[in-house]
Amino acid sequence: MIALFATEPPIGTRIVLDDQVYELVQAEPYTRKTDGKASHLLHWDTACPTDGCGKPLRVLSGMSITSLQRRCEDHRVLTKPVKGKRGRRVKIRIEMP
Ligand SMILES: [Zn+2]
Repeated sequence: MIALFATEPPIGTRIVLDDQVYELVQAEPYTRKTDGKASHLLHWDTACPTDGCGKPLRVLSGMSITSLQRRCEDHRVLTKPVKGKRGRRVKIRIEMP
C-alpha cells in the first residue's frame, strides 16, 4: 500500500517514491461502480525516472493507492525495478501542501 486517503487530498499533495515525485493536479469526484459510494479519481503528474528521459507522465489513482506507474510507455519494463534490486522496499513519503 502506498497511500490511503480518507478525505479528498488537497491539490498539490505530493507522493514521493524513492526520489520520484508525484504531484496531485486534479481530484475528480466520481461514483464507485462497485458500491455506488462517492469517491475521487486522483490525477498525478510525474516524470519518467529513466536516465535521460524525464518525459512527463499523468497517472490516475483512486483514494487508496496500491501502485503507481513509474515510467513512460517507452521505458515500461515491468520485470525490472526502477531502482536497486527486485523486492527492495520503495521509500514512500506523502507531503501535504
Ligand atoms: Zn521514459
